[in-house]
Amino acid sequence: MPSLPDTVDDLLEAFDQPVLVVRAGRVAAANKAARALLGSAIVDRDIRVAMRQPQALAALLAGKKTDIEIAGIGGAERPWTLSVRPIGDDNLLVRLHDRGEAIAAERMRVDFVANASHELRTPLATISGYAETLGDDDVPDELRKKFATTIGTESARMLRIIEDLMSLSRIEADRFRQPRESIMLDRIAKIAGQQIAPLAERRACRIVVEIEQDQVAIVGDSAQLLQAFDNLLSNAIRYGGGERGPITLTVGKDGLRPFVRITDCGRGIAAEHLPRLTERFYRVDEARSRGSGGTGLGLAIVKHIVERHRAVLDIRSNPGIGSKFTILFPPESGRLS
Ligand code: ADP
Repeated sequence: MPSLPDTVDDLLEAFDQPVLVVRAGRVAAANKAARALLGSAIVDRDIRVAMRQPQALAALLAGKKTDIEIAGIGGAERPWTLSVRPIGDDNLLVRLHDRGEAIAAERMRVDFVANASHELRTPLATISGYAETLGDDDVPDELRKKFATTIGTESARMLRIIEDLMSLSRIEADRFRQPRESIMLDRIAKIAGQQIAPLAERRACRIVVEIEQDQVAIVGDSAQLLQAFDNLLSNAIRYGGGERGPITLTVGKDGLRPFVRITDCGRGIAAEHLPRLTERFYRVDEARSRGSGGTGLGLAIVKHIVERHRAVLDIRSNPGIGSKFTILFPPESGRLS
């Protein structure tokens, strides 16, 4: 039979989270994570010296099975769950579980619900106000037409937001399901170029599909990739504009890594916005986004599709010169795993 770990220390080191053993009021053992958090010399120390956080210390002195939520270890606001488990006579196994990430995720979820409600409430308030006014008998025909048009535009906006939200939740639900279609990136890029042609034409933009290398095969989800390319092309048209040059959709390989790049010669994006661009509802220029039919979700959708393909989204931009959005696929992306 395989042997057990030689010492308690070996066992504790297997945990990524801070873990200690307290025996007769002293720290008898502490793993690396615990030493990094509480101090490198805590082993053998009295717990009153090793653990200064008052609630944590009280729980250790009580010596009973407990799980408490505390803050103030390794940072004033840093939240932890402290778990104490008595083992044998006068030994306590103490674990600290970092709740920072879970709390940040929960905050993001709450913010998202608040933002989505706000985004939907704004057009809805306009629609309901105008609909009410339309019910009055004395509204002149000209105004009636104007109100009806606004109701149409605002409902279309709500529909786009709802469609993008549904799309986002479908992509998120598929997050852990590997795409399994064998596809040619150059073929998808050509379809994306054709699909966006009517919008490009309306905005007097020229789209150039540049195939640096054909037969670039990857395993992916063709519908999702088409959606990602479409979102990037539509942004390039809406924010890039075609005044100073064409919008280019390039397919190629960077060493072993297949890539798709969308380049525009538009207004560009200031560096401070780049890290936040893929957040839901984040917009650089709110009025321009709304005015051009944007939902603020396009790049969040792209990011999720890119992550599902284990690819990387690289955004570079020079204000006043243009932007480059590159999706870089992993080298092994041509193979079914
Ligand atoms: P939206 O629906 O507002 O276009 P996105 O998530 O697609 O939302 O994009 C977020 C923001 O990023 C946009 O509001 C816009 O300010 C900026 N942006 C996206 N693509 C470009 C681009 N090619 N050029 C300049 N700004 C862009």
